[in-house]
Amino acid sequence: MLEIVQIPVLSDNYLYLIHDPVSEETAVVDPAVEDAVVAALESRGWQLTHIFNTHHHWDHTGANLALKERYQTTIVGPSADRDRIPGIDIAVGEGDKAYLGDVAANVFDVPGHTRGHIAYHFVDDRALFCGDTLFAMGCGRLFEGTPDQMWQSLSKLLALPDETDVYCAHEYTLSNGKFALSVEPENLALVARMAEVEAARKRGEPTVPSKLGLEKATNPFLRPMSDEIQETLGMLGAPWPKVFGEIRTRKDNF
Ligand code: ZN
Ligand code: FE
Repeated sequence: MLEIVQIPVLSDNYLYLIHDPVSEETAVVDPAVEDAVVAALESRGWQLTHIFNTHHHWDHTGANLALKERYQTTIVGPSADRDRIPGIDIAVGEGDKAYLGDVAANVFDVPGHTRGHIAYHFVDDRALFCGDTLFAMGCGRLFEGTPDQMWQSLSKLLALPDETDVYCAHEYTLSNGKFALSVEPENLALVARMAEVEAARKRGEPTVPSKLGLEKATNPFLRPMSDEIQETLGMLGAPWPKVFGEIRTRKDNF
């Protein structure tokens, strides 16, 4: 089994160390900053061997070059955006695998937030690293993609098992949940989740990772098929990608 360490940095980013105890290789997912990564590695006696980038934004790649220089790290990133990933060594896309020792992650192309955005799925460890594509009760803004594209991307993640742990890159859960309640106030699973999220945040605890099954039940961006959401939006019976697009627009203006 992989060991996964969550590191909060900046105002609301999460980085993750992934350590394979068999090969003793260690990856960091989306290193925004260097110091917190170095400290987390040193306290465990781990050597950084890989950087796994999900997309090009600075708060996911900011420490690529510094870490590469310090540890001679191999950098893996999206082939569709290879020109914008500092120091990239291995470009991957849909259907490829990213390796940590002998452990392989399946790679999905999940464009929408950016043109080249990928997600890493470690099947046996039930761990999904999805960057800024899927958040707890939310999804990434569509900076470089269309609603249809993003809905297609999210549909790939929807097909993964409910027990999957969703390691997203930001702690946006509380504000996402407030919006979710505005479009689906009668969703009892959502109401219950919000109470837990509010309590966790009051205690200063992270709400990430979450289970994909819970996202399917409460995340409005995975629920354009919900009658209640369609009714709230005045879009009963509309195609799901259209409903998804309207949910995204309303969240942008919430
Ligand atoms: Zn981003
Ligand atoms: Fe981000």
